[in-house]
This record gives sequence, C-alpha cells and structure tokens, in this order.
Amino acid sequence: MIIHPGKTIGVLGGGQLGRMFAHAAERLGFRVHIYEPEANGPAGEVSAMEVNRPYTDLVSLKAFAHTVDVLTYEFENIPTEPLGEIGHHAQLRPHWSVLETCQNRMREKNWLRKNAFPHVPFAEVEAGDDLAAAIRRMGLPCVVKTADFGYDGKGQIKVADEASLAKALEAFSKQRCVIEKFIDFKCELSVIVARSSIGEVKAFPVAENIHTRHILDFSIVPARVNAAVLADAEKLALAIVEKLDVVGLLAIELFLTDRGELLVNELAPRPHNSGHWTLDACVTSQFEQHVRAVCGLPLGDVSVVSPVVMVNILGDAWKWDNGYLAGDANWEAILADPRAKLHLYGKKEPRLGRKMGHFTVTAATADAALDAARALKAKL
Ligand code: AMP
Repeated sequence: MIIHPGKTIGVLGGGQLGRMFAHAAERLGFRVHIYEPEANGPAGEVSAMEVNRPYTDLVSLKAFAHTVDVLTYEFENIPTEPLGEIGHHAQLRPHWSVLETCQNRMREKNWLRKNAFPHVPFAEVEAGDDLAAAIRRMGLPCVVKTADFGYDGKGQIKVADEASLAKALEAFSKQRCVIEKFIDFKCELSVIVARSSIGEVKAFPVAENIHTRHILDFSIVPARVNAAVLADAEKLALAIVEKLDVVGLLAIELFLTDRGELLVNELAPRPHNSGHWTLDACVTSQFEQHVRAVCGLPLGDVSVVSPVVMVNILGDAWKWDNGYLAGDANWEAILADPRAKLHLYGKKEPRLGRKMGHFTVTAATADAALDAARALKAKL
C-alpha cells in the first residue's frame, strides 16, 4: 500500500529521531502522531498529536493505530508483543519481528551467525551459568554485554584483567549476557540502507565513526578507507537489509579490522545517529528517506553534497559547577562559523552523557572538516 502526502504517519517513540523524522514528514505534507510514554519529549513538541501512554497499554496502542495510516518506530526498546497485536489496525514498518531480532544482542548475533554474515565472535551466557568460566574460555580481552536493552555502551564492561573481571562478575552474574571478543579495530564504519515497501533499495554513503566512552562522538563522510572496503560495506549492508526483510531504514554498524575484514557490530532498524550528517550534506536526509521508504514512495538521491563531519553535543557541553548546571554552552561559536550547522533537540534538561543535539561542519575534504569540527567542539 502506498501512503501519499496528506496522510498520517504514527511514530512509536518520541525522542530526537522522532523529532527529525517529524520535520521531514511534515515538509512532505504528512501529519505525524507520536506515541511516547513520557510527556514533553522532543518529537511531540513538533508533531500534530502526541499520546503519552505506556508501550504495554494495548488499548491505547490500538486507539493510536486507528488515528494513523502507517506506523513506524524510532526507539528500539519497545516490547514487541503488543506490536504484533496492532498489525491489523495499521501496518507497522519495519515489521515488529525486525525489531524483535535487533533489540536483543543475543537474538541479533544468532541471526547474523545463522545467516552467515561476518560478526564479532561471541558466546552466550544464561543467567546462573558460570560467567567466569565462559569469560576464560573466550579469552581476554573481551567485552561482556547484557543481552537486552543495551545502547551507547550502557550495560557493557571490557574485561582485560582480574580487576575488570571481578567488576563484570558483580554486574552480570545474575543476567543473560553475551561475551564478545574485544576487537582491536582499525576504525568503525556504518551504513544506513533504505528499503521501501515496494522493494526499492538505496544505501547512503559509508560513514566513519569515532566513539568516545562508547558514545558516538564524530561521524566522518566520506569514510577515510579505500574503495574496496566501501564497496564491501555497501554490499554487506544490502544483503542484510534484504535478508532481514526490512521496510524502512536499517543502520549497520561495522568494525574494520587490521586485516581489512568487516565485522557487523550492531543493527538498528531506524534512523541512526551516524546518519545525522545527511541533513546538511546529502541530497536526501535519512529522515526523509525513512518517510519515503515506509510510505512506498520513490527513494531519494543519496549523493553527498560535500565532505562533512557530524559532532554529537552531550549535556557535558553545558557549563557545570560541582555537578550543578552553571550555564549554557557557547552556541555562538558554532552559529558564527559559516561552515557549521547547529541542531538542538529541545530537551528540557541537560545531563552529563545525554545527547542534546549535534552540529555538522562541511569542508573541501573530510580531514579539513574533522579539523574544523574538533576546533569548534573545543570552543563549545
Ligand atoms: P555497542 O553499544 O555494542 O554498539 O558498543 C558501543 C561501542 O563500544 C562500539 O561502537 C565500540 O566502539 C565499542 N565496542 C563494543 N563492542 C566492542 C568489541 N567487541 N570490541 C571492541 N570495541 C567494542
């Protein structure tokens, strides 16, 4: 079914991804309704309607589905059981089974293994199993991660010695988790692919990502890797999106090893932080592409307009005094630079480690954009 402008798109989740999705949808003449448990979020503020009810409230979810022509999600930690129930009220794109696979590290990794996609070597540990023995079998260094609901490095500990082993045992002994080999990667890459409800597929150019304390810090486009790696990353992403049968966007995070091998780290069936650069330096943004894909409209051009670097702005950028908020960040520094674009998500309360916004810097080359981005970040 093709959904034309003028119709209403429902979004489950009301964070910054929903906000930027709503901007793109509204520009194409759609109405956007947001379903989000917490009031006053970034997306509800810019949408035609917002419902604040829990994701487990089936009656409210069904009523919400009746108000829209198609449904999508911008948040991964939504229980999938109720979503299976609302399918005949409004079509959910991507399907809830895609979310079910991607929201749990164990299921995601088993799916990659079963379908023979290259992934980080891992072992599964059930609650109550001998975690210490499993860690020793994997060998150090390794990374222990909770199976459910982990993101931005939350719920993971690198184990490299006896002290970190003790920390991991204390944190994870009573829950299901995944132990991964620690990959001493050359760099991290990501590819965002759109697949529309009528089967059209397009991959955005590969981004090179630098994480700091497990949170994305910089995305660099074009990625500074050779053409063969770019082609392999795109080929892998296209194969995964087809196999997973995604309608919408799928972000694929990859590690590039010293041997030139690509390993899938994570899959996210939604717009992705590493695609925010597309708002300012690509013919079509990832948010507009998501709208087009879930509505069955022709996908947009994914050509890069300029080399670009995206920098995340965390609550840390505000002025702090002994843990108390003491003042705004230096927005003028970014706004005064003609190469930079500032995006803030309208979150009411800055907190350390919380994603509050981002900025992009365009320049003649990726290296020049990265230098300028680092200089501007230092002034924030
Ligand atoms: P995740 O939440 O699993 O995507 O992890 C966040 C970040 O932690 C990744 O983007 C990497 O920078 C780092 N990381 C996670 N798993 C590993 C691993 N197995 N080896 C090396 N670094 C990792």
